[in-house]
Amino acid sequence: MQPTTAQNATRPPRIARAGDACFAEFQELINQNPNIEIPDETLASLHMLYGKNFAKALEVVDSGGIVCFVGERTGRTVYKVPGSRPPDQYLVFPSHYCSCQSFLYDVVGRSEAVCCKHQLAARLATVLRRAVVVRMCDVELARMLLGQCE
Ligand SMILES: [Zn+2]
Repeated sequence: MQPTTAQNATRPPRIARAGDACFAEFQELINQNPNIEIPDETLASLHMLYGKNFAKALEVVDSGGIVCFVGERTGRTVYKVPGSRPPDQYLVFPSHYCSCQSFLYDVVGRSEAVCCKHQLAARLATVLRRAVVVRMCDVELARMLLGQCE
């Protein structure tokens, strides 16, 4: 049976899947050797997939301040990633959402990118263990998210 058009529309783009595979391979390398440098071929692949956003994401990671909030019971995660103009910071779900303007215009509006630099930065910071991890109860996490909606 052929998938319906609606199913095709919800299927992630090939770049996103290739990116997921690249990050999974990178995570595996780090798990085997936490002190490993990013291999050149991984850098080249990520740059090819994400273009200029990849270099910008590395700058965000290098600047520090990425926080990963983890719900203690559910394990749900949400990130806060600093913007280029402090105290700006964005709410980020690495695979699905960022509260920045670029996500709205370039990813959602024009489909010119599969993600923004903050989403990439959150993923890179996680793999490289450069995110500050804050464990909190899930109710607190939900309150934090609701606070972002005001
Ligand atoms: Zn963003």
